Amino acid sequence: MATSSPSTSAQPIDALIVGAGFAGMYMLHKLRGLGLNAAVVESGSGVGGTWYWNRYPGARVDIQSLEYSFGFDEELEKEWRWSERYAPQPELLRYAEHVADRFDLKRDIRFNTRVTAAHWDDAAQVWTVQTEKGPAVRCRHLILATGCLSIPTDVTFPGIDTFKGDVYRTSRWPHEGVDFSGKRVGIIGTGSSAIQSIPIIAGQAEHLTVFQRTPNYSMPAHNGPIPDADFEAWSKDPRGYRAASRDTVGGFQNEASDAMATETAPEEIRAELERRWAWGGFRILGAYADTSIDPQANRIIQEFVAEKIREQVKDPAVADLLTPKDHPFGTKRPCVDTGYYATFNRPNVSLVDLRAEPLAGFNAEGIKTTAREYAFDAVVLATGFDAMTGAIERIDLRGRGGRQIKDHWAEGPRTYLGLMVAGFPNLFTITGPGSPSVLTNMINSIEQHVEWVADCLVALKQRQQTSIEASEEAEAAWCRHSAEAVTPSLLPQANSWYMGANVPGKPRMFMPYAGGLNKYTEICRQVAAKDYEGFMIRQGERVLSESRVFTSLPEPGEIPEKLAPIIMERLMAAGLLPAE
Ligand code: NAP
Repeated sequence: MATSSPSTSAQPIDALIVGAGFAGMYMLHKLRGLGLNAAVVESGSGVGGTWYWNRYPGARVDIQSLEYSFGFDEELEKEWRWSERYAPQPELLRYAEHVADRFDLKRDIRFNTRVTAAHWDDAAQVWTVQTEKGPAVRCRHLILATGCLSIPTDVTFPGIDTFKGDVYRTSRWPHEGVDFSGKRVGIIGTGSSAIQSIPIIAGQAEHLTVFQRTPNYSMPAHNGPIPDADFEAWSKDPRGYRAASRDTVGGFQNEASDAMATETAPEEIRAELERRWAWGGFRILGAYADTSIDPQANRIIQEFVAEKIREQVKDPAVADLLTPKDHPFGTKRPCVDTGYYATFNRPNVSLVDLRAEPLAGFNAEGIKTTAREYAFDAVVLATGFDAMTGAIERIDLRGRGGRQIKDHWAEGPRTYLGLMVAGFPNLFTITGPGSPSVLTNMINSIEQHVEWVADCLVALKQRQQTSIEASEEAEAAWCRHSAEAVTPSLLPQANSWYMGANVPGKPRMFMPYAGGLNKYTEICRQVAAKDYEGFMIRQGERVLSESRVFTSLPEPGEIPEKLAPIIMERLMAAGLLPAE
């Protein structure tokens, strides 16, 4: 940190923010602007979070940059011009740096500092936060802006330490970059990180071998300069454009349609899917309203994408291996690529199917499968993250009565609104489990959370209230509502990181809130308007207000007649509706 030094002095600061990604930066700026005394601790040496760490070749955003950028400051918005539809990581990092400099944020960020523990002191109504170095920090509020995909999984492979070559992790890429020219390279994983980096690495390496366990769906970005029409639509009315983005399920504009694929003529579907595929990115997700619920409708998209893979990959056997068969389309976060499938037509690229020949481990020369050995100069691990809970659970986080977050979340993360946790007063999570977060444009979700938290802290301070805490009942009601929101969809059917399925032993629970950002924003607004419904607010030992209910649900939308039986059946099977 440049100058500020939160300390163990008698006077706690108003808020300590953990993480200097987009969430932490905006939180700091917002609280400062409100006259609150706030500071940030960040484990990296710079700002940017995801875009600080994920420097692998080809890394870029998968939501259009016009929408994936801050909207809270009109001047900032006007002065920044993105170079491409989907900005690459170096440009995103420059943007983060620009925001930090423009708002003079670094003087209150302590870099190279990882938080190890945070304990709530109920008598003093403060958090004591311990870091790997430096004195503990006392703060009234602790705000975790630690990111949803910031901690790599602990996956390791037998013998990896004996490998003589270099090992890189996409999420911890060397800052100076890596030149694979003339090298034999192996990459493990075929998620978004691998799918973005494989075409670039293939362009450099003598040979690239891709080790795939499960194929993913990927759509072309058709990246390039921002089309004039898009830029004009945005620049005419950036406020209106952003408001329209926020008023969607995913927090970005996607031409979401009400039409049903199973009620549409095949030639019409074809034309519509082709149009959306040609537009690129996530646009195809909004084509039909039934594909996220009805397996028959979903199969139409699956078959369309399979055909697109066959069109791009010359060897039919390789195309078949690259085609997902174990999960419906959209139930894992689809990838957005630039030349991924065509890369497998290159003579210097080969695909290894780990289902046919499982990975046995490493030796000094490279990777061993059950079938053969592959020699490499370098191996890249693109093996994913302990998503949503990883960064939070790695902190020794203890709430009232010393209760540990890990125990509270033993059966999966429980929160109220994805913002607070029962038994953990004055602890806020930005885009935490139970919030729409990773199912949305993260920047819009971040802005909504930061603004809600800031309003809450101001309301508490104005009334000299010292703590706010979610009630067990409201938390349970939110968990139930979250389950009701996701159960009708196909989302729980995939072994995804949304479900915690990529980490051995992690409880299986759909972690993000699937009800949509627009609906969620309205719920949060209503909760605050009802004087923080579902929360207990205290001033010292005095309980000032106590609400144990959560009633702020908007009227349920009309269920399309065709989907009603599927939805009812799934809710009933999950015990969320009484059986008739
Ligand atoms: P991921 O989607 O979880 O992919 C990890 C890959 O590693 C999977 O293919 C997985 O196979 C494989 N893997 C893991 N452990 C393995 C093992 N022991 N042996 C063999 N293979 C193994 O991780 P990610 O690619 O880093 O992406 C995570 C998320 O980050 C994305 O879904 C997205 O939300 C975000 N992201 C976004 C962008 C962007 O475009 N802006 C870029 C990168 C990441 P299995 O599927 O079989 O487990």
